[in-house]
Amino acid sequence: MPVFDYMPMGEGGLQEIFSWMDDFVLTHKEIAEKRVLGRSEDERWDIPAIVVTNKDVPEEKKQIALITLSRHGHERGTRVVGPEILSYLASPEARTVRDRQTVIVVPVVNPEGVVQDSFHSSMSGITELEKKIFGRLCAEFPPDMMIDFHSLGKTDGSKYDLGDMEVIVPANTTKWGMDEQIHQYVAHEMQNYAEKYGWPYEVHTLEDLSAYYFGGRDGRLPHASLQEKTFLLQVQNPYEQFAFPEDFPGYTNYTCGPAYLRWHTMVFGMETNHFSIRPDQGLGESGMLPCRALLEMGNQRFAWERAPGYPTNLLYGDFRISLRPIGENPGQLRTSRERLWKERFFFDVLKRETIDANTTLAELGYLGDNLPLDLGLCLRMRQKNIHRVCIHEEDAAFETFTDHCSTFVHIPLRLQAAGRTKVTIEHGE
Ligand SMILES: [Zn+2]
Repeated sequence: MPVFDYMPMGEGGLQEIFSWMDDFVLTHKEIAEKRVLGRSEDERWDIPAIVVTNKDVPEEKKQIALITLSRHGHERGTRVVGPEILSYLASPEARTVRDRQTVIVVPVVNPEGVVQDSFHSSMSGITELEKKIFGRLCAEFPPDMMIDFHSLGKTDGSKYDLGDMEVIVPANTTKWGMDEQIHQYVAHEMQNYAEKYGWPYEVHTLEDLSAYYFGGRDGRLPHASLQEKTFLLQVQNPYEQFAFPEDFPGYTNYTCGPAYLRWHTMVFGMETNHFSIRPDQGLGESGMLPCRALLEMGNQRFAWERAPGYPTNLLYGDFRISLRPIGENPGQLRTSRERLWKERFFFDVLKRETIDANTTLAELGYLGDNLPLDLGLCLRMRQKNIHRVCIHEEDAAFETFTDHCSTFVHIPLRLQAAGRTKVTIEHGE
């Protein structure tokens, strides 16, 4: 049974969503809390969020997931997806999610737009109001994962598909630290999960989506530049970290881009479809399922990650040799990640050399001045037995973890000065 088996419309519809949220918090007091993030631009409406988590687990030991919906007021599908996600989060199936994550759901980012059933938003960056409310929220809850829900109708689809598709968008990433590949991998897992329940999804990059909307002969933007991944990061105001007031023109669709730039957050955009799927046919469920898949992936350990959680810890390099944050719980990892991610432009060498059957050399160069700097150097090894690690020829601590066919050696390092760090790894078969 869907939470909403009809489409909430107008002022009455908004009030129905809001009173459903209030009832939800009353019914699930143990795990749920309401927060008001701010007021709509017309000052008429609160913008409420619901925080769902196991309150007995300290915040430091949990990851943070932020789910936003309805930033574009006429994208109706989002109105029924938010309650469906909340309803899942309160279910017994989501117990591990509540134990390991603080999940914040903002079902209606743009209440004014929903009442008017109009876009009422910005095509160039996020709005001033969004900067303010997400700036405040993320200062307290820097997200490890952020997903932003939109919805396509008859006329909002791409140029070649009007009115039918549902899409997962690995959005607003760069190519640093294999992020494109990692986001694609996760997006396809989300797709597989939804499709098992009978909801066909497609995965499109943000570049694809922009090209479909704006490219082509009659397009508003030149197609060639849309093919450049950098294009979107240029048009996305780099100062737009939910904080700066400048208003650069540029297209960005999803709320989560600034979170990636600032915290190396795992970020997704979503497009449900309210033209082809009615609420009573399961529109809410079709949007909830990929989100559920993502939240549950946040409890697991990805093969290349040292600990369970969203795969956000490969900050520089690739799967064979990479720089990682240091920390023993999600809170410590988050702090370290934010600091190291900012330094990514100052690492100039990341080298790996197989000297002989028993020795691998690794070298790391740092040009910055954010010192001392703690980080993890991580190598994926064919060899199962790692005997010894030396940093500048002195014995050093290390740990290992495995995937199905290889061993990762994780070496904590403290950089005291700019320059090169040389690491030797001795191993057996
Ligand atoms: Zn939209």
